Amino acid sequence: MQLHFHDSARRQKVPFQPIDPNHVRLYVCGPTVYDLAHLGNARPNVVFDVLARLLRREFPRVTYVRNITDVDDKINARSRESGEPISAITARTTADFHADMAALNCLPPDVEPRATASIPEMITLIERLIANGHAYAAEGHVLFSVASYPDYGKLSGRSPDELLAGARVDVAPYKRDPGDFVLWKPSDDTTPGWDSPWGRGRPGWHIECSAMSWKHLGEDFDIHGGGHDLIFPHHENEVAQSCCAFPGSHFAHLWMHNGMLLVNGEKMSKSLGNFLTLRDILSRGPWAGEAFRLLLLKTHYRAALDYTAERLDEARAELDDHYALLARDLPEPEEGDETVADMVAWALEPLADDLNTPLVIARLRDLRALENVMQVGGSMTTVLSRSGRDWKPKPGQAGAALRLAANVIGLLPSDPMAWRQGGAGDDAEIEAAIQARLAARAARDWAEADRIRAELASKGILLEDGKGTTTWRRA
Ligand SMILES: [Zn+2]
Repeated sequence: MQLHFHDSARRQKVPFQPIDPNHVRLYVCGPTVYDLAHLGNARPNVVFDVLARLLRREFPRVTYVRNITDVDDKINARSRESGEPISAITARTTADFHADMAALNCLPPDVEPRATASIPEMITLIERLIANGHAYAAEGHVLFSVASYPDYGKLSGRSPDELLAGARVDVAPYKRDPGDFVLWKPSDDTTPGWDSPWGRGRPGWHIECSAMSWKHLGEDFDIHGGGHDLIFPHHENEVAQSCCAFPGSHFAHLWMHNGMLLVNGEKMSKSLGNFLTLRDILSRGPWAGEAFRLLLLKTHYRAALDYTAERLDEARAELDDHYALLARDLPEPEEGDETVADMVAWALEPLADDLNTPLVIARLRDLRALENVMQVGGSMTTVLSRSGRDWKPKPGQAGAALRLAANVIGLLPSDPMAWRQGGAGDDAEIEAAIQARLAARAARDWAEADRIRAELASKGILLEDGKGTTTWRRA
C-alpha cells in the first residue's frame, strides 16, 4: 500500500518514496541517559516503534537506528551532584530505559549506537566542516558558522531575524555570530574528554546525531524522527552539519515529529508538581505499560496529547474488553483465511495515512463488536456499513483479525487469561529469572542481564538491586 507521511520540512503530507525500496532507513533521536524516562520521552519511542513496525511490513528490509547519548553536560552535572561515576549513571539509566521500553512493548531498534563509541566519526565530520569553510576553531572550541549555510533555518521555518532573536543574549566572545553553535568543546581533567586536533575535549550534542546517522545509515537516508521540541535547534543543526560536511547530500529525505505531551492540561514540569516518570505509570499495575501505549496511540502523533489518570483507566478498560473477548474459546480460523486477511487489511489501512492510529484503534473496536455479534447475537449492520465491506463473518474470524491487527501496532501481545488474572507469571518463575540474571551479572554478561530485566519488566515485574541482592515488585 502507498504510504503517506507528513513531512515537517515540506509542511505537508507527501507520498513516501524510499531512496532504496529494498532497504528503508530510519533514524530517531534517543535518550540522554542521566535520569529515568518521563512520560514525554515515552511518546516518540512508541510512535516511531509503530512506524518501524509498519515499514517492516511494507518493505523487505528496514534499518531503524536510535542512539544513546552517553556524553552530555547533564550527565556530567548529575555525576558531580551525586558522586556516582559517569559510567555507572549511564549504564544504569540505559538499562532502566530498556526495561521501560520493553514494558511499553517497543521493539528494540536494529542499531542502538552510543555516542561515546562514535567519537572518531564526529572528529572526521568536524574536520570536513572546517575544510569546507563551515566551521572554525577558537579557544579550544570548534563552532559551526551559521552564516556559511544559506539554508540555515529552513527546516524550522525561522527567518534570520527570528534566529538572531533566539540566540542567547550572553554570547561567548569566541563566537563570530551569536547563532554559531558548538561542535567541539574543551574538557578539563574532571570532565570526560577525547584527544582531538583541537586539544582534549568532547562533542556538542548536535554533532553526535549527524555522526551516528552517517555511520549507520549513510549521507542520505529516508526518515528522521523525533519530538517536535527537537526541530530547533537540534534538527536544524543536524541538517546544517551533515549537508555542509557532504555537499550535494540531502541528509534525511523526510522529517517526522510527534506533538507534545501535557499532564492534566499543562506542560509537565517539576515546579508544577505534575512531573511523571514512566515508572510512576508502570507502578500502577502489570496492565499499565500496555494501557499507556494504547493511551498514546489513541491520539494522532502530531497532535498535542493530554495525559490524565482517567484516560489511563479508560485505556485499561478498553484492553479489558478486548482481552475478555479473546479469553473466550473462539474457533481458530484456518491459516490464510481471506476474510480474516481482509479484516486485518481494513483495520490497518489508516496507518498508510500518516499513521492514523486513532482510526486503527476505532476499527479494532469494530472488529470486537463483530465478533461479539457472532458470540452473543445482535446486529452487525453498523459495523459492516462503516467498513464498506460485505463480510459474512464466521465465528472466530473477527476475533482473530482483532488480535492480528492489534499485534502490528504492538497491542494485545499478552495471554488473555494471564491479563485477566492480573498479569505476570508465578513467584517461583520470577525468582528463577532473578537468579539467572544474577548469574549473568557475575559472569559480566551485561547484555543477558539486561535482557532478563527487560523481559520481567514487560510482564510488570520491576527489579531493585541492593548490595548483593535483588528484590522485585509488581509494577
Ligand atoms: Zn538527534
